[in-house]
Amino acid sequence: MTPPIFRKCPTCGERQLGIVNKSHTTSVYHDGSEYVVSIPDLDLFWCSNCGHQIVPMDSEERLMTALRQAAVLLTPEEIRDNRFRLGSSQKKLASELGVTEDMLSRWEAGLLIQTRALDNLLRAFFSLPSLRSYLSKSEKPILPAVDSTPVPVLS
Ligand SMILES: [Zn+2]
Repeated sequence: MTPPIFRKCPTCGERQLGIVNKSHTTSVYHDGSEYVVSIPDLDLFWCSNCGHQIVPMDSEERLMTALRQAAVLLTPEEIRDNRFRLGSSQKKLASELGVTEDMLSRWEAGLLIQTRALDNLLRAFFSLPSLRSYLSKSEKPILPAVDSTPVPVLS
């Protein structure tokens, strides 16, 4: 066993900041909504003197995964697997969805979480062949009016 390494705490200045594995609950804002995210065993820097804690980079990723679960959003693997299933490239899918290729590659790499509206679009795109064919056309057909019944004019 390597002895624990203690770093200097940025809050109290004591050399008491060590890695602990503890339950961590935090609220995360995403896309205008607040989500309470709880992880029972997260590695954190924790100061035994003042209680200050810092979430390290590797733990950050677990928080993003928990946030996706809390918000019920497609995971990076689900987005990539569905794209593979359709035999599409990142460039082609991004263009059909109307997002940048960079954004799509960040979703698939787990570096960025899509908004609810784009998650809905992704799910619809992956489920509906008619939507895929509609979005693949560079000239979108003009939509028929939803209700063509004339509105009665009251005198
Ligand atoms: Zn401290």
